[in-house]
Amino acid sequence: MQRDEQIFELIEAEKERQLNGIELIASENFVSDQVMEAAGSVLTNKYAEGYPGKRYYGGCEIVDEVEQIAIDRAKALFGAEYVNVQPHSGSQANTAVYHACLTPGDKILGFDLSHGGHLTHGSPVNFSGKLYDPVFYGVEQETGVLNYDKIQEIATKEQPKMIIAGASAYSRDLDFERFRVIADSVGAILMADISHPAGLIAKGILNDPLPHCHIVTTTTHKTLRGPRGGMIMMGQDFDNPFGLKLKNGSLRKMSSLLDSAVFPGNQGGPLEHIIAAKAIAFGEALTDDFLHYQLQVQKNAKAMAKALTDKNYQIISGGTDNHCMLIDLRNKNLSGKDAEQALVKADITVNKNMVPFDDKSPFVTSGIRLGTSAVTTRGLKEADMIAIVDLIDEVICNFEDEAVLEAIKIKSNAMMKGKPLFV
Ligand code: PLP
Repeated sequence: MQRDEQIFELIEAEKERQLNGIELIASENFVSDQVMEAAGSVLTNKYAEGYPGKRYYGGCEIVDEVEQIAIDRAKALFGAEYVNVQPHSGSQANTAVYHACLTPGDKILGFDLSHGGHLTHGSPVNFSGKLYDPVFYGVEQETGVLNYDKIQEIATKEQPKMIIAGASAYSRDLDFERFRVIADSVGAILMADISHPAGLIAKGILNDPLPHCHIVTTTTHKTLRGPRGGMIMMGQDFDNPFGLKLKNGSLRKMSSLLDSAVFPGNQGGPLEHIIAAKAIAFGEALTDDFLHYQLQVQKNAKAMAKALTDKNYQIISGGTDNHCMLIDLRNKNLSGKDAEQALVKADITVNKNMVPFDDKSPFVTSGIRLGTSAVTTRGLKEADMIAIVDLIDEVICNFEDEAVLEAIKIKSNAMMKGKPLFV
């Protein structure tokens, strides 16, 4: 078979883009070579519907071992009693949890998308907002921070069956203990979606949801620095609250409901090559090197937020506890879309993002979201964050001047030159 040069040339071009640019998309990271090797391995050829030891296909003995290692490492990393590593993505993980816990039409209470939540937390354009009955909590206009008393008020009024604690663009730590008090007061199931801060949580840098939330979902590819994918966890398994009986008359455990919701409920064959890559990433995350990495991610985010504030950029909530920050550009007189496009021309990759109480559409937006996970993997430190903010500011102040943007691109490329990646 002829090598498909058309695609491989594009992959090479993308590799160059990743090597040369300053990557500030908060949901992205660079995996290690061994994670990529596993993701591109022969395991992609194997069908393995079912779970280790209980498959619907022959020849699964080896992938059974791989998947069990991934599960065991994830349990050790997060202190979880139950883990399912099969969800193909974060959205699939959330889909499976809703499928296990809810009936269409049930009320769910999630973080408003335009305030920092995720599509799968009840947005009307997503299955979660179409199948279920979503209500939302959001941040305070004056502070940009969640007000837990108000979340309690909304929960008391709305009586949701499930509360979702988690966000895609919220730079403050979440109080999972308080969320549990709120959930218990209305008899709701509490799900945490830690897709963004999972790596920081794994290393104990941010509040741990496992002791407080019934179910925890995450992606594996953001701060956790694994392959693209999802995962479901529980600190402790529990008897399901819906009274579903097994054939022998005993109540089904939540773990059994979740496993069935992933397969056969929402997915067919698991991606064993990706599960192998997850296992490797979890192994890397169990090391002290990963703790130092996460501490640096957080230090870099704080340094970046301070440098931006010093230049009169408005950071929602006034700073960051984690790896990301959301900037309201309304005092700079350009939209998130204009900023994203100009920054990309200077090889600085960010994404436009709605800010709380935004007056622009999701295609235009008033803000941009920045994160430090990827640049920290490249070895950048606090002083580099200040230099990056200088470049961002130069772009924003000259966003329509192509010559200036071209000159900044040269500086961006120079900054990333020699920074290790794909060894
Ligand atoms: N949950 C949160 C909080 C996210 O930020 C994301 C992705 O950005 C997801 C879920 C969905 O993950 P995926 O893109 O893998 O479906």
